[in-house]
Amino acid sequence: MTVTNRRIVLTSVPAGVPTADDFEVVTETMPALADGQMLLRTRWLTLDPYMRSGFMANPDSVGSTVIGGTVSEVIESRCTGWSEGDFVVGYCGWQAYSVATADDLQWNSADMPIQKWDGNLGPASTALGILGMTGYTAYEGLLNVANVKAGETVVVSAASGAVGQVVGQLAKIKGARAVGIAGGPAKCAFCTDELGFDACVDYKAGNLPADLAAAAPDGVDIYFENVGGDVLEAVIPLLNEGCRVPICGYISHYNLTEGERRPTPLQRLKAEGLPVLGKDGSTQGFSFFAFMRLSASHPEAEDALTDLSNWIKSGKLKYRESVSDGIDACVPAFIGMMNGENFGKTMIRFDD
Ligand code: NDP
Repeated sequence: MTVTNRRIVLTSVPAGVPTADDFEVVTETMPALADGQMLLRTRWLTLDPYMRSGFMANPDSVGSTVIGGTVSEVIESRCTGWSEGDFVVGYCGWQAYSVATADDLQWNSADMPIQKWDGNLGPASTALGILGMTGYTAYEGLLNVANVKAGETVVVSAASGAVGQVVGQLAKIKGARAVGIAGGPAKCAFCTDELGFDACVDYKAGNLPADLAAAAPDGVDIYFENVGGDVLEAVIPLLNEGCRVPICGYISHYNLTEGERRPTPLQRLKAEGLPVLGKDGSTQGFSFFAFMRLSASHPEAEDALTDLSNWIKSGKLKYRESVSDGIDACVPAFIGMMNGENFGKTMIRFDD
């Protein structure tokens, strides 16, 4: 059987917002399998902001297939323990097919081998979202790092997105007040009406400091930082004594050019003498990575998967995905996500 692959390669480090010119599609015939190999067909690919701040910002990435988490189906196997039809959670990047071995890793991390997806947990796409990286990130940041308590006010930015939508709902599950910040009335209505947030403020309406103060009348106990920049500036005056600010990310900085750079959230909060929580304070407040990497021996990670899956099954936790189809959708969907055009977890589906 001849299989033709299409994959997307970075051709230049984007200057500011990525454009289609920073990428090219490479078409190639997949090689015959050797013993110990299996042929994977990508079924789901997750697109995430870290691809811009990490891989695409690094000149060494030029010429390489863009990285990314995947769920793939084994369509041919010469690999013991893996059979045709198995679903594999891996890290195959922006491509339709790949060749793998049982020793392949996720995130190039020796502690994170590829895994079979247990379909009883949820649909395969959730392995890359709410039951994968972004769900774990929300769980770790809010429950383990910030240690949310009932009655507290939690503010989360990029609230309708992959991480933010989970953070607000976990805050509610734990008895806290959940206030989102999102771009536009539709995203804000989704957070309150569909997900049960107590309030959601549209930062694009042009009145964020006053609107946020009204939505958080008792101040802010936890600010789950996803955005940075002007959104962080609006939150800072509302932070209560004893507040916690887990810095998950700061997407408003990722496309800035050298001359546009502004202080990171960590630098801003330190300058204000405010507490910044986490294990990796030099770049971000915390990373899902340490948490997931330890999953084999880390009971909290097992708890996270079990909790998230059970909350979905019982209807306490909802999720929304922003799905586009096929390899040609990767670049526009990624650029769209960086511009706020996604509505939920950004995913690429590869159908027959
Ligand atoms: P989202 O699904 O939230 O998508 C990105 C969203 O960011 C957009 O939809 C847009 O929402 C918002 N956004 C984009 N530009 C701006 C801007 N200039 N100002 C304000 N909002 C903006 O992405 P994720 O949930 O995957 O990621 C959210 C954050 O979490 C990112 O900073 C990411 O780097 C970080 N992250 C960190 C991890 C960790 O381990 N620490 C793991 C996963 C994610 P809107 O329309 O509302 O503006």
